[in-house]
Amino acid sequence: MDSKIFIGIGSNIGQSFENCKTAIKRISSDKRAGLKSISSFYSTSPVSDIRQDDYINCAVEIDWQGSPFDLLDLLNSIESSMGRVREEKNGPRVIDLDILMYGDGIIDNDRLTIPHRELHRRRFAIVPLIEIDPGLIHPALKKPLSGFLTDIPADQHVTRLEGIAFQNDVIAE
Ligand code: ATP
Ligand code: CA
Ligand code: CA
Repeated sequence: MDSKIFIGIGSNIGQSFENCKTAIKRISSDKRAGLKSISSFYSTSPVSDIRQDDYINCAVEIDWQGSPFDLLDLLNSIESSMGRVREEKNGPRVIDLDILMYGDGIIDNDRLTIPHRELHRRRFAIVPLIEIDPGLIHPALKKPLSGFLTDIPADQHVTRLEGIAFQNDVIAE
């Protein structure tokens, strides 16, 4: 399928930057996935009532030979393989892999909501996406993703990390 598919990646336990890189490598090593682009890495403040460390967040764009549900299964299996244990909602985690957008796809069921239900309310999700593709339109809300940023509370901090990137070596692997 020729959709622009974006995965949001986050970690705030352990070696967060390494955890994000490991997840990207595991996604790209699946035969059905083709890595198209990796955003910068960002240090972001948690969007949660639970006290916890800052996150490292980034996003990747992939091609995917399969259904959105197959992709969710892959992401969940990578999370498990990296030691993710589901405890409290919005609590700290080793790795979180969310399908943020799946082309113009709109899905709303028990297992999967696309675009991600909170995408338009989270600076840490929008900023890496529009770095990869500044013109992205939210297919359900029919508004440019960049347009949501002004409505997001200023206490959601997102800081681009200079000097850590591995775009070329991972895509080349
Ligand atoms: P949030 O969804 O607010 O970002 P979270 O990432 O902490 O919270 P999880 O515990 O990681 O939530 O995920 C709970 C469930 O959300 C997953 O098992 C999955 O079935 C479902 N889910 C629904 N839509 C999506 C999506 N677009 N991407 C990933 N998981 C999703
Ligand atoms: Ca999430
Ligand atoms: Ca998740």
